Amino acid sequence: TGEGAEFDLAIIGGGPGGYSAAFRAADLGLRVALIEKHATLGGVCLNVGCIPSKALLHVAAVKEEARRLAMHGVTLGEPTLDLDKLKDFKSATIGWLTGGLAQMARQRKVEVIHGTAAFSSPDGLGVAAGRGHRTVGFRHCIIAVGSSSIRLPFLPEDPRIVDSTGALELPFILERMLVIGGGIIGLEMATVYSALGAKVDVVERLDGLLTGVDRDAVEIWQTENAHRFGDIFLEASLENAVAGSDGITVTIAGSPPVERCYDLVLQAAGRRPNGAALGLEMAGIEPDARGFIAADSQMRTSVPHIFAVGDITGEPMLAHKAVHEGHVAAEAVAGMKSHFDVSVIPSVAYTDPEIAWVGITEDAAKAAGRKVRVGKFPWAASGRAIANGAAYGTTRLVFDQETLRVIGGVIVGPNAGDMIGEICLAIEMGADAVDIGRTIHPHPTLGETIGLATEMSEGVCTDLP
Ligand code: FAD
Repeated sequence: TGEGAEFDLAIIGGGPGGYSAAFRAADLGLRVALIEKHATLGGVCLNVGCIPSKALLHVAAVKEEARRLAMHGVTLGEPTLDLDKLKDFKSATIGWLTGGLAQMARQRKVEVIHGTAAFSSPDGLGVAAGRGHRTVGFRHCIIAVGSSSIRLPFLPEDPRIVDSTGALELPFILERMLVIGGGIIGLEMATVYSALGAKVDVVERLDGLLTGVDRDAVEIWQTENAHRFGDIFLEASLENAVAGSDGITVTIAGSPPVERCYDLVLQAAGRRPNGAALGLEMAGIEPDARGFIAADSQMRTSVPHIFAVGDITGEPMLAHKAVHEGHVAAEAVAGMKSHFDVSVIPSVAYTDPEIAWVGITEDAAKAAGRKVRVGKFPWAASGRAIANGAAYGTTRLVFDQETLRVIGGVIVGPNAGDMIGEICLAIEMGADAVDIGRTIHPHPTLGETIGLATEMSEGVCTDLP
């Protein structure tokens, strides 16, 4: 297909999946077009996701640290907020990174085309930009168009009802906020706004926050966050929302129903794939009922010269998964035998404290009837954690009962997201409890708790030779 085409590879979408694929393919000698409808590269992650949220969460964490310091005798005084300066810091962080991507594309001679792409045939795309239109012929294509947040249909159109993109714009200082959705994105934004002085309620349809991770670990997280949140409504849903001059008045179902008025309502109740206007039928690709595009382990769709990576392929919708898939797809296009063959993909809520987990959790293992041993190291016994005012934290490892190989882990506490990488590596390398327990970790560090957790499960360090 696409003989004599202008490009060996056309990539639709300049997010983590798309730009990673573009750079890898160019490094492998392919002629690459990277098509992005927004003015900057980086996708959701850099522009309105991972990075701006972390810039604001850093501010929240420092403010929290100052609060804790006051308990240890160092009072820094009441912080004041200059919203415009904070926005400038966030924008500068994004600008630095998106500018870097544009430069990396230039260095690699990736042709960045700004416009909205749709398939016109199995080998061609039409790209619309303003009043202009061009066609792009390709031998291979990677679809990396990502996802958008789901808009709840019964909510009125009102600037005070926002998705994560709207919330990250920090539209105004507010007192009362409702977050719909107790997952990672909702709770990260709740953390930011509470640090900025808002009282934040959370409403979640399921019976707990952060589903997918052990309940007792979430309990520790929730206890540490108790001062941050107002009410957390579980197994609850919104019945009604009315925009008025005083705010958005919502009714939360229950007996009796609760009626509250908020200055800002954030919808963080899931994301949906962006493939609807791509003309997939022109390429012969049929998405599933929810709009996701299926791909094999080389990220190839049912049409062999067209690949799909990132959020458009389904859960988990995470940047590190998109990047990894982008590399696999680019290498497959270049004729390499690469496959997406990972054992685990970590999840992190970069809240304060952080909570990070990977692999099989203790709750999931028990529910599946799998025989495991668990090593839990309470940070109350870690010198560094106590010195850092984080004695509440925990590190826990899940081992296969027979082989004592590590198959999962959960960490609650500052820097949990940075620490979980060691457990990912251990799982990928097939490490067992002895490998981890006898690896000398630097003292005194929070990372040391990973080694120490192996000693907390009876016999795990002595059962193997
Ligand atoms: P995207 O990043 O969505 O990029 C797709 C790109 O395609 C977009 O730039 C879009 O403009 C473009 N596009 C779409 N259609 C077309 C078209 N027809 N023509 C041209 N261009 C098109 N993940 C993490 O791993 N860690 C985090 O901390 C994290 N934090 C997040 C915080 C928030 C608030 C949100 C919303 C998400 C967060 N995520 C995080 C998820 C992460 O952002 C996504 O998983 C990641 O961006 C997906 O990458 P992608 O390449 O698949 O798609």
